[in-house]
Amino acid sequence: MNDQKISPSFSNHKEKICHNGNSFIISAPSGAGKTTLCRAVLDRTPNLFYSVSYTTRKPRKGEQNGIDYYFITEDDFKNRIKNGKWAEWAEVYGNYYGTSSEFIDKVLASGRDILLDIDFQGTLQILDRYHESITIFIMPPSLDILKLRLESRGTDSKLAISRRIDAAEKEMKNKDFYRHIIINDKLSVAVADLISIIEKYRTQVSHTSIQQKL
Ligand code: 5GP
Repeated sequence: MNDQKISPSFSNHKEKICHNGNSFIISAPSGAGKTTLCRAVLDRTPNLFYSVSYTTRKPRKGEQNGIDYYFITEDDFKNRIKNGKWAEWAEVYGNYYGTSSEFIDKVLASGRDILLDIDFQGTLQILDRYHESITIFIMPPSLDILKLRLESRGTDSKLAISRRIDAAEKEMKNKDFYRHIIINDKLSVAVADLISIIEKYRTQVSHTSIQQKL
């Protein structure tokens, strides 16, 4: 295993890529219900693509390769860092997570929109590269509810849960950096809120392109 110390870098992409679609970045502490929310929104929103992240974390029960994540080895992940394959990457809870730049560029260049589910470190890197990205933070109603949700999920050890709670508190301090904040108290309301944000930007884009054509 390669133990060299590595960290994400900014602005190491030189070429200017032309993008037409919107990129929506969703961040939330784990247990805020982000995955369920994103799935519901993706089911109801045509032409919105999900960026399946790559991770070195082991799959949880029920998770499928290529759907929830691409599960890869640490060596593979680090090779892709060397080869500049990531639009962003970060180490989260002791595992690596990354987003493929090739996939994002393809979707955006085809004029379609993309939804990214990444943490704050990844958000900063994506904004550095795709300046127009729309950032949305999902909040749990409270830290107590977050803890209950993590425990009832039954997928993480006590230690992993307490690490995630600590990380959630830190992550929530960044919420004001985001352009929109949604509190996920009632799922149906949060889904409607997220869809209305997405639709708002799609409408703005089509109005702009109509005006430009006139
Ligand atoms: P989990 O292991 O619970 O699925 O995800 C843990 C954290 O990693 C979440 O905060 C999630 O947003 C973040 N994450 C998932 N995929 C990516 C990614 O591709 N890049 C970054 N930076 N964070 C990610």
